[in-house]
Amino acid sequence: MSAKGDLLYAWAVDPNVRDKGESGGAVTALLTFALQEGIVDAVLGVKKGVDIFDAMPVLITDPHEVIKTAGSIYGGTLLLSKFFGKYLDGLKGLKIAAALKGCDVMGIYEQAKRRQLNLENLLMIGLNCGGATTPSTLRRTMTEVFEVDPESVMKERMYRGHLVIEYDGQQKDISIPKLEDAGYGRRSNCRRCRVKIPRQADLACGQWGIKEDMVGAATFVEVCSDRGAQLVDMALRAGAIGTKAADASCVRARKRREESVLALADKWREKDFSPLSSSKERLKRVIEETSRCIKCYTCVEVCPALFNSTEPYITAFPGRVPPELGFHLLRYADVADSCIDCGQCEELCPMDIPNSLFMHAIEADLEELYGYHAGEDMSSPAVAILDEPSMRSSDVQKER
Ligand code: SF4
Ligand code: SF4
Ligand code: SF4
Repeated sequence: MSAKGDLLYAWAVDPNVRDKGESGGAVTALLTFALQEGIVDAVLGVKKGVDIFDAMPVLITDPHEVIKTAGSIYGGTLLLSKFFGKYLDGLKGLKIAAALKGCDVMGIYEQAKRRQLNLENLLMIGLNCGGATTPSTLRRTMTEVFEVDPESVMKERMYRGHLVIEYDGQQKDISIPKLEDAGYGRRSNCRRCRVKIPRQADLACGQWGIKEDMVGAATFVEVCSDRGAQLVDMALRAGAIGTKAADASCVRARKRREESVLALADKWREKDFSPLSSSKERLKRVIEETSRCIKCYTCVEVCPALFNSTEPYITAFPGRVPPELGFHLLRYADVADSCIDCGQCEELCPMDIPNSLFMHAIEADLEELYGYHAGEDMSSPAVAILDEPSMRSSDVQKER
């Protein structure tokens, strides 16, 4: 019997899934099993779109189709957190299993606190994540660093601190720190990210801690909830997956690896936040950068720590482009301590305004003051307002 806290190696029993899936296909096998057995009504995954630079969300109801979501997409920077509230009626009547990275899961918690989705109906298979790069940076990396035509690259992956590409039957790799020193590599929010192993999910799956002779043939699984333990047991009994308890030495190696990655994230935080440490400097930089804003509302629409509506921002700041500073300050206040640093508001800003840097810097300060960790669990934020209808009542609007 599995239990919360168990650490194990897992792999798909079906040779086809093992072959096509990543690291022995355990995640694909678990998702397929959950759908096949009616534990969930559908699987939400991400598959390759037109090319390896195109990550496409896909909702699957046929278990045979789950295999199409196998494999990772380093250049895919989608965030799935708002998907459930926007397109799946907040999971009121639908049970979904989804493969999710840390920022997806954190955003899901913040959405659930804002009553945008029913967590009970979501089975979360967490994917360990070292970071992602934007498709445009990845294309530049291939051309300028690897000197390879991006169109010829069939596969890219991160492995043991290296970016590896496969093209025309050949392979090249480069260390990520070297890449980042040269101005390429992961998005800045990913460099600061401390949720590399998403323990808020039901299971956290990845490569760290895999025994040398099992690399590529098994996934390291940390069981993070009773529901996760139940899924592992059921899949094991049904012959969908095989498992083995993780070796103590590998568990220690995984812990060391996680600690070193977190230390690196702290260094990036220090580097990114120090120019903003004086409030005067921070405000000056915010005013300068936001003066380019074309008020497209993308930063509002994509943020998992905000409600789905842009209406308050339209009502409070009609007309002017660029908008008054208050437009941005309202968003800062609304997100305040709940920013999970997913990077969406920055990456998708058409004017390249470093929105997530500003927001994350505020969140980090508030985290220090109040001890509230955004996206960690269902506890309420210390500052942000969760009850949108009362916050947005016409009386409040008039007062503004
Ligand atoms: Fe991965 Fe964290 Fe970046 Fe999300 S923010 S893609 S979990 S490194
Ligand atoms: Fe302004 Fe950028 Fe936000 Fe659009 S996404 S409203 S341009 S800050
Ligand atoms: Fe993500 Fe930006 Fe919202 Fe923070 S403010 S949660 S970085 S979209």
